[in-house]
Amino acid sequence: MAQRIEVNQKVLSENDRLAADIRSQLKARGISAFNLVSSPGSGKTSLLERTLQQLSGELNIALIAGDVHTENDANRLIRAGGARVRALETGGSCHLDARMISRVLPELDLDGVDILFIENVGNLVCPSGFDLGEDMKIVLLSTTEGDDKPLKYPAMFRRSSVLVINKTDLLGTSDFELSTVKRNARSINPYLKIFETSCRTGDGLSAWFGWLKSFVGKPVEPAPAV
Ligand code: MG
Ligand code: ZN
Repeated sequence: MAQRIEVNQKVLSENDRLAADIRSQLKARGISAFNLVSSPGSGKTSLLERTLQQLSGELNIALIAGDVHTENDANRLIRAGGARVRALETGGSCHLDARMISRVLPELDLDGVDILFIENVGNLVCPSGFDLGEDMKIVLLSTTEGDDKPLKYPAMFRRSSVLVINKTDLLGTSDFELSTVKRNARSINPYLKIFETSCRTGDGLSAWFGWLKSFVGKPVEPAPAV
């Protein structure tokens, strides 16, 4: 057991070293980087599709689309207007790590890029433990999931700076309560910035777009540690 812990620590410190290197490369280029995490099916790809459709005329967006298998999401994002989309198939791993990002990053044209999105593998557990060199983790939670998810997966909500509550068009069709999920999330991380969106109807997306545009030409302010 003791040996296993030691190995994990070694893997993590190697990851942290690579993540720090990625972060400094991105900072040198003035790029804000966001790592999108959630369980499968919360709407990460849909939110990114909407974002590309709305903002790709105004912002230069690069995107790494992680999935265990298939390049389906990357292809959706390319169709949405993402000229700089790179698929990252993990081939079995249930999370992205900094080594994978450092391998594909040189293949992306980062000239003039304002924002880099990394769509992580759908999984609310271990992606929380891997720094990818991002400025912020953004966690999505959809109204078709339980409103107690922040209490069940606290590490993810503690390490994220932003919570996007998606599929608000489906509110009222289940026992999911918006006030309950927000209370639970803020009990884990009082600093979470919260957006309420429906990628299907477009409700709430203008606040999200406005927030993203605020990063152009301005470095991300680090969130307070919880
Ligand atoms: Mg996806
Ligand atoms: Zn994993």
